[in-house]
Amino acid sequence: MQRIGVFICWCGSNIAATVDVKRVAETIKSEPGVVFAENYQYMCSENGQQLIKQAIREHNLTGIVVGACSPRMHEVTFRKAAEEAGLNPYMVEIANIREHCSWIHKDMEEATEKAVILVRTAIAKVKLNAPLTAGESPVTKRALVIGGGIAGIQAALDIAEAGFKVDIVEKNATIGGRMAQLDKTFPTLDCSACILTPKMVDCAQHENIDILSYSEVEDVKGFVGNFHVKIRRKARYVDETKCTGCKLCMEKCPSKKGLNEFNMNLNTRTAIHIPFAQAIPNVAVIDSTQCLKFKTGKCGICQKFCEVGAIDFTQQDTFVERQYGAIVVATGFKPIALDNFNEFGYADNKDVITSLELERLMNAAGPTNGVLLRPSDGQHPHVVTFIQCVGSRDTSGCGKPYCSKICCMYTAKHAMMIREKYPDTEVHVFYIDVRTPGKNYDEFHRRAVEQYGVDYIKGMVGKVYNENGKLMVQGANLIDNEQVTIESDLVVLATAIEPEPSVRKVATLLTASIDTNNFLTESHAKLRPVESPTAGVYLAGVCQGPKDIPETVSQASACAAKVIGLLVKDKLKTNPCVAMPDEMMCNGCSQCANVCAYGAITYLDKEFRIGGGKTEIRRVASVNPAVCQGCGACTVTCPSGAMDLKGFSSKQIMSEVDAICKK
Ligand code: FAD
Ligand code: SF4
Ligand code: SF4
Repeated sequence: MQRIGVFICWCGSNIAATVDVKRVAETIKSEPGVVFAENYQYMCSENGQQLIKQAIREHNLTGIVVGACSPRMHEVTFRKAAEEAGLNPYMVEIANIREHCSWIHKDMEEATEKAVILVRTAIAKVKLNAPLTAGESPVTKRALVIGGGIAGIQAALDIAEAGFKVDIVEKNATIGGRMAQLDKTFPTLDCSACILTPKMVDCAQHENIDILSYSEVEDVKGFVGNFHVKIRRKARYVDETKCTGCKLCMEKCPSKKGLNEFNMNLNTRTAIHIPFAQAIPNVAVIDSTQCLKFKTGKCGICQKFCEVGAIDFTQQDTFVERQYGAIVVATGFKPIALDNFNEFGYADNKDVITSLELERLMNAAGPTNGVLLRPSDGQHPHVVTFIQCVGSRDTSGCGKPYCSKICCMYTAKHAMMIREKYPDTEVHVFYIDVRTPGKNYDEFHRRAVEQYGVDYIKGMVGKVYNENGKLMVQGANLIDNEQVTIESDLVVLATAIEPEPSVRKVATLLTASIDTNNFLTESHAKLRPVESPTAGVYLAGVCQGPKDIPETVSQASACAAKVIGLLVKDKLKTNPCVAMPDEMMCNGCSQCANVCAYGAITYLDKEFRIGGGKTEIRRVASVNPAVCQGCGACTVTCPSGAMDLKGFSSKQIMSEVDAICKK
């Protein structure tokens, strides 16, 4: 005999203001099988949980339904409370009467009626629940960090310091990411390289960190605690173990016209090169698309001069396969392409540059050794005009609808740096509005205006055009309500940022989700901001959303704390709600295995009795419960209806539908 208990939560006024919670509890008391129903202000509180535990014991409940918020919030809490009272935790169902009801309705009558239906539906399901037991799986005590920018570096260092092995997989020839390209950094204006490169060296020297540079993740199998990852190590045509970073090859290489990506293509580099002086690893790489040996079969000069014999033109991509307990994604960002913004004249005028290009021009290790010169003629610019929000907060479809968050601050930084270094330079900034929340950030912006005399103009720029060799910036001044045209020597575009495009591939490999702007989605925006919805996968830095360095570092350390919390465990409890094939119905068609993203389904040849004392061998699906994540993809794919999910059987779902339809 089923003995169901129902607990309706007010969630303060979150539910109770729209749903008549007392009426729901009263109405539900008369449902067949319900022996107890109560309402309480906060079911998740200590007192609320006590109420549940006491009712389970006193009324010998065989299953409970909690009408409350989303199961993503408190399912674990209520399952734990039930278990403490001696009830199997999988005999608990949540009716979401907050997100699915009170928060989306205004009319109390209608909302109350709907809440009753939702609770009745959960009762129908719990009646068909069976007690389940979670299994266990061992944890591999090694972490993978994908992306070696400041986010990846910080996460790796924190994990390694806690005593766990970490591999950083970086697609470029060096770690460092975008921060390595910056000159000074807000809000303190300290030199980016001075604070970043010691951390890069720490990574290289740490006994627990293995840097796999010039590498990419090719395949991921497995699940939290046991990811099996295949990594492609791209051929750099230089033996990493031999190269000493002496740069002799770079001096001798005759192919000098490759665009220098690190310097935002503002100058050139040789085919064999080390991306920048402080690169980690400090090892050369050959750009085979530029190298004369690859293009013509001739040359090979670098090989002749390399004293340690590091150069190997026959090198091929290789693969390594490793096992990891947790994965941190830290793939960062890139500035958007400006093809849709012809009005700013970026493609037509060398002296219209992006903010990241300005970082390189201002950098002592950059193409002009830190002297600010116009790219067109190498002259010092006397009037510099900045345009903010280029492609950000753009709902026209040309750019990005979101705020890139960092541009107001770095534009103030650039403006101050120019005024500091070249007091004879006039600096104008066009802005929509200045957004500088953050510790000492607004003060930073005010310093640009009040102390450095930067001319901030509230208004949008209509166009930038060339007139007699001068750049004319035409825009609106909304404060003075007039059109202005500023004759400028250099125009700097604070370009929107977007996730590094390869994030899509990484997300697919990890079955992690991305939002409409390709940023990786966190499990819960407020309560689980560094966890992806895929267990064991964590998110650090700009791959999750625009952020500056302090925020990136905080998020990376938060990720590391989560990873450490996972890796200290020897075993993890596995979800018992896994797929379960009915071998009598299965015809071995393989469709379920094809859709399983976790590789949990294999096939076995089994012997079945077919009557008359005869048997036959049939191929049937078999699910590995340690690998299955209970996503349900196979159950809806199976054409024979042979695949079911424990805790979410077809019978249970149909009983829920019946309960909804019941008048
Ligand atoms: P990134 O720096 O982009 O690093 C990501 C790394 O992952 C890269 O090395 C990339 O090659 C690698 N990667 C990408 N995809 C893959 C893949 N599939 N596999 C392997 N590796 C991969 N912030 C401040 O706080 N102060 C400042 O003054 C400041 N100035 C700025 C000025 C400009 C012009 C810009 C554009 C940004 C500025 N920022 C500043 C912001 C700062 O650059 C970022 O906050 C920071 O770089 C974010 O680090 P990240 O590690 O998330 O990403
Ligand atoms: Fe020096 Fe050889 Fe390395 Fe080039 S490849 S930097 S020559 S050790
Ligand atoms: Fe440069 Fe290629 Fe010649 Fe080496 S072989 S020196 S990389 S062009």
